[in-house]
Amino acid sequence: MIPAEARAVADAAKGFLPDAEAEALYDVASAAASNGPILEVGTYCGKSAVWLGAAARQQQSYVFTVDHHRGSEENQPGWEWHDPELVDPDTGRMDTLPFFRRTVAAAGLEETVIAIVGRSATVASLWSTPLALLFVDGGHAVEHCIADYDGWARHVMPGGLLAIHDVFTDPAEGGQAPYEHIYLPALADGFVEERHVGSLRVLRRPVLGRPHR
Ligand code: SAH
Ligand code: MG
Repeated sequence: MIPAEARAVADAAKGFLPDAEAEALYDVASAAASNGPILEVGTYCGKSAVWLGAAARQQQSYVFTVDHHRGSEENQPGWEWHDPELVDPDTGRMDTLPFFRRTVAAAGLEETVIAIVGRSATVASLWSTPLALLFVDGGHAVEHCIADYDGWARHVMPGGLLAIHDVFTDPAEGGQAPYEHIYLPALADGFVEERHVGSLRVLRRPVLGRPHR
């Protein structure tokens, strides 16, 4: 179980992660963390990073979390998921980085959760450390999903886990891009589904099998 103090901080943080999905993510991270680092795409204000970080800390592991902190398309002014409190008054642009820092500091996870501020595709192109768990929760436009799968899935270690957020098989429930451009390609590449809670899917990369892309 996540320590109560970390849970209180995660609950108070702005973000998009229902309780049952957060708890599943914590379980999965707890099981994976002793095998290597965890990487998250899509930090926002640090809600999921606290769940992942609390699990990683107990195993002396680490969480890298990647975001340009300028918000996704749907977070911009005039869009459905815009939060005006996240606009930097000096620039008029979204900036979630200060919120993330406060969240992680309040959770006591500054030694565990490591922020990488930049475009996901750029960071992925320069990455080389095998990942015990990859959690993809970044941009939901088709181009971002394609880039996140192509850029990051290759870094999941054999036997490691790929968790995907916002997977909706029915267009009435939500956007289809994570389903069509991350989840289905992962299955086609041999990842095997292990867990399904709400819009969260957790897949394992086989230890043996054809080389991944
Ligand atoms: N995991 C978070 C929610 C993430 S929301 C939580 O628990 O609440 C999606 C995030 O992805 C946004 O903060 C947005 O800035 C980021 N994002 C979208 N496209 C991106 C890209 N191409 N590179 C880096 N970050 C991106
Ligand atoms: Mg999400």
